[in-house]
Amino acid sequence: VKKAGGSGSAFFDAAMDTAAQERLQMENDLRTAIHERRIALYYQPRVDSRSGRVIGLEALVRWIEPDGRVIPPTEFIGLAEECGLIDELGALVMDEACRQLSIWKAMDLHPPRVGVNVSGHQLDSGALVPTLSATMARWAIEPGCVEIEVTETALVRDSESGSRQLEAVRALGVQVAIDDFGTGYSSLAYLTRLPSDTLKIDRAFVVDLARGDRAAEAVVRSIIGIARDLGKGVVAEGVESIEQVRALDGWGCHTIQGFIYARPLPAEAATRLLAEGGIL
Ligand code: C2E
Ligand code: CA
Ligand code: CA
Ligand code: CA
Repeated sequence: VKKAGGSGSAFFDAAMDTAAQERLQMENDLRTAIHERRIALYYQPRVDSRSGRVIGLEALVRWIEPDGRVIPPTEFIGLAEECGLIDELGALVMDEACRQLSIWKAMDLHPPRVGVNVSGHQLDSGALVPTLSATMARWAIEPGCVEIEVTETALVRDSESGSRQLEAVRALGVQVAIDDFGTGYSSLAYLTRLPSDTLKIDRAFVVDLARGDRAAEAVVRSIIGIARDLGKGVVAEGVESIEQVRALDGWGCHTIQGFIYARPLPAEAATRLLAEGGIL
C-alpha cells in the first residue's frame, strides 16, 4: 500500500487497486464457471408476425453463479474477450446450443434454426470454423439448423479475413446473420458485400420507431429494402409493442424478435413452447 505523500493520489491508487482486484477476482470466477460449465443458454423466439409461428431461436448466454444468480452477458463478454477466455466460452456456447438441438431432435420437436452469437475475437483467432464443424459433427447436427450472428463492429478490424471466415462458415452450410446492422461506422457498400443471409435491425432503431422518430423510420425502411433487393432475410429485434409490429409488417419485415412475443427463455421453457407447437 502506498503512502499518502502529498501528491494526493493515495486514495486514487487505492481505488485503482480495488478495481483491479475485483476484475482479477471476476476473471478467475469466470474461468472457473467455464470449466465447471456453469454457463446456460436462454432462447429467445424469432416469430413470423403473420402466423405467430416460432421460426427461430436466438441463444443468449448467461453465467450462473453457485447460488443460482443469473449474470447477463453484457457483464462478462467484454471481460472474456479481454482476458482471452472468449474462444473457450464461445466453444462452450456452441457446444451447448448443439447439445440442446440434439435433445430437441431426439424429442422429435423439429426445432427451428438456432442463432448463436459470435464475438469478433473468435473470427480473428481462426477458431470459429474448426469449432463449428467439430461441434456440429459431435452432436450430429445438420448445418442448416445453425446460424451465427456477428456484429459489424466485430468484422471491421480485419474485413478481408472476416469476409473469408464468413464464406467458410457458409461453405459449411451454416447461415450468417449480421447483427446490429448499421449501428457501426461501416459504409453500406462494405456492409452489403459481407457474405450473409440475414440482416438484423438493431433494437436502438426499433426503440426510436416507437417514439415516432422519422430518421429511425427511414433507416429501418432502408434496411428492409436492402435485404429485399439483395435477397436476404431481415429480422427486427427489441420489438416491444403492437404498433412496432404493425409498422414493420407494413414495410415488409415479418420476422420479429422481442419482448412483445417472448423474453429469452430458459431451455425448459423453450422446450415447452416447442412441444406445444411453437405458436406465440
Ligand atoms: P444482441 O445479440 O443484440 O441480443 C439482443 C439483446 O436484446 C438480448 O440481451 C435480449 O435479451 C435483448 N432483447 C431482446 N428483445 C428485447 C426487447 O424487446 N426489449 C429489450 N429491452 N431487450 C430485448 P442479452 O441476452 O442481455 O444479450 C446482450 C448481448 O450480449 C447480445 O446482444 C450479444 O451481443 C451478447 N451475447 C449474448 N450471448 C452471447 C454469446 O453467446 N456470445 C457472444 N459473443 N455474445 C453474446
Ligand atoms: Ca444477437
Ligand atoms: Ca442484436
Ligand atoms: Ca445489440
